[in-house]
Amino acid sequence: MHEMSIAMAVVGQVEEAAEAGGASTVASVRLQVGELAGVVPEALAFCFELACAGTALEGAELVTESVAARAHCRSCTGDWAVGMPPRLVCPGCGQATDVELLTGRELQILSVHWEDGPGPDRVRTPAPTREPIPEER
Ligand SMILES: [Zn+2]
Repeated sequence: MHEMSIAMAVVGQVEEAAEAGGASTVASVRLQVGELAGVVPEALAFCFELACAGTALEGAELVTESVAARAHCRSCTGDWAVGMPPRLVCPGCGQATDVELLTGRELQILSVHWEDGPGPDRVRTPAPTREPIPEER
């Protein structure tokens, strides 16, 4: 299942970051999901809960932030909302050969909210060197 492999990748990355930061409990994970990433939020939430069992993320909340897909036409420099099902033909000039997808394929961890001991809750963003979540084709 597509969502299961994503959930496990997210849990793996967060676990690694939590361990490096000395956190014991992860409260929530904020995930950016593009409209075209092919992810069903409900299925992902379900898989996330399963993937969290027995890890530092057990009971953590998954917050998904959806990103609308937008495309850009290099011929007439027009932008439009791609929508679902995706429309990749330019509504301005009617061609689809020089079209660039601007947004919509995002699938990344935005921030992780965890507790590390008696101090106040902290919000951290995983290091920017982290690999994006691999997509399953
Ligand atoms: Zn165009």
